[in-house]
Amino acid sequence: MKNYYDVVIIGSGVAGCFSALHLPKEMDICMVTKEQLNKSDSFLAQGGICVETSADDYEAFMEDTLKAGHYENDRESVDMMIKSSAEVIHELIDYGVAFETRDGELLYTKEGGHSKPRILHFKDETGKAITHTLLVKTLENRHVRVFEETTMVDLLVKDEHCIGVQIESPDGLLNLYSKFVILATGGVGGLYEHSTNYRHLTGDGIAIAMAHGVAMKDLSYVQIHPTTLYSEEPGRRFLISEAVRGEGGILLNKAGERFTDELKPRDVVSKAIHEQMEKDNLPYVFLSFAEIETDVKERFPAIYERCLREGYDITKEPIKVVPAQHYYMGGIKIDLEGRTSLECLYAAGEAACNGVHGANRLASNSLLESLVFAKRAALDIAAREDTFEPVFLSSKEYQDGRELLEERREKLKGVLRNE
Ligand SMILES: Cc1cc2nc3c(=O)[nH]c(=O)nc-3n(C[C@H](O)[C@H](O)[C@H](O)COP(=O)(O)OP(=O)(O)OC[C@H]3O[C@@H](n4cnc5c(N)ncnc54)[C@H](O)[C@@H]3O)c2cc1C
Repeated sequence: MKNYYDVVIIGSGVAGCFSALHLPKEMDICMVTKEQLNKSDSFLAQGGICVETSADDYEAFMEDTLKAGHYENDRESVDMMIKSSAEVIHELIDYGVAFETRDGELLYTKEGGHSKPRILHFKDETGKAITHTLLVKTLENRHVRVFEETTMVDLLVKDEHCIGVQIESPDGLLNLYSKFVILATGGVGGLYEHSTNYRHLTGDGIAIAMAHGVAMKDLSYVQIHPTTLYSEEPGRRFLISEAVRGEGGILLNKAGERFTDELKPRDVVSKAIHEQMEKDNLPYVFLSFAEIETDVKERFPAIYERCLREGYDITKEPIKVVPAQHYYMGGIKIDLEGRTSLECLYAAGEAACNGVHGANRLASNSLLESLVFAKRAALDIAAREDTFEPVFLSSKEYQDGRELLEERREKLKGVLRNE
């Protein structure tokens, strides 16, 4: 494996792929990913991806995002995300993503916290449709080399510049040097007992960057999703998309009574469910599909199949649901171009934070945000690429840095658990 690239990207979800696709073809790029290419949270996204449906939607989209985020959002970031949304969606369509349409027009759906329909989807497997397409396009590019089952274990830093990463692969440890590094390592759900995230997503990029003193933002903002399928088995929790409630799904207590407005933002609905669980003295509440007007088997095929395997026929009976960790609003602090506080280190996607979500993410804003800011990071790198020469570490310099790293790596876990 060669050990010098123009750009090293860590992570193969939507943020990693979209940044790779927007880097110039003349650049030599390496993308490494911890497990197989199809094992990223991007593949799991069910509900959809937001888009500004017309210029008239701007104010409402802004207000919905700010309201969900408790007005703690960075307005400039939200503005950038909304104004870039149509262009990004057109790029996806050009790449071949087949969003649902009706009479030849894009079909918009609604989820909690949205005042109007503005979410594009492909059945209940939007993330798979987008990420598979982006991965195929990425792999078609000869200038991008992709390594699976390869884990970043450290950043290489010299003279306050990021000059590469250390990776661990089945062949052992290796230093990969590069002009730029993009951390697109996703969220932190693997650190939680109950989460919808893949178990291997343990906030590695955030922890390693933090250990090197890179600035962080909103570290305590963790989103709990109101509805995951209740299970007594350990492991990843299966998400019951917000779109189910958006299309008429009703939450019920043990007496079969409705107890909350299902379309409030996620944190509000999660709190109402927790309170109801306490009142009912049960570790779950119920979600009924009976009021949904569309054909639920057709609209939510993956949810239908999964629930059937767990013993529920959603066309006939309610299911048991419980809130679980779902998304991380905080992370590595970035500016609008994806730059972190460490020179030549960029971050994108769920690992990064520019305040776009504030204290709570509006449903279906994260795929969009990941794509918008990953693209901006790539374009920023493209614009400054020529000004950097290769830099390498001596083995003594590397060893000195490592000792400090071990000591500080545990910090993140404590922060996330509010210790
Ligand atoms: C069940 C579920 C449903 C969702 N539904 C929606 C939705 O409908 N709409 C929406 O907008 N958002 C949704 N989200 C959120 C959205 O999917 C994610 O926020 C988004 O996909 C994050 O993309 P990403 O590229 O930043 O990270 P990911 O797609 O999680 O990718 C992270 C990548 O980093 C790699 N990685 C991590 N650590 C290392 C390491 N140390 N070394 C090498 N590689 C590493 C991983 O292997 C992976 O490839 C959902 C999330 C979940 C879990």
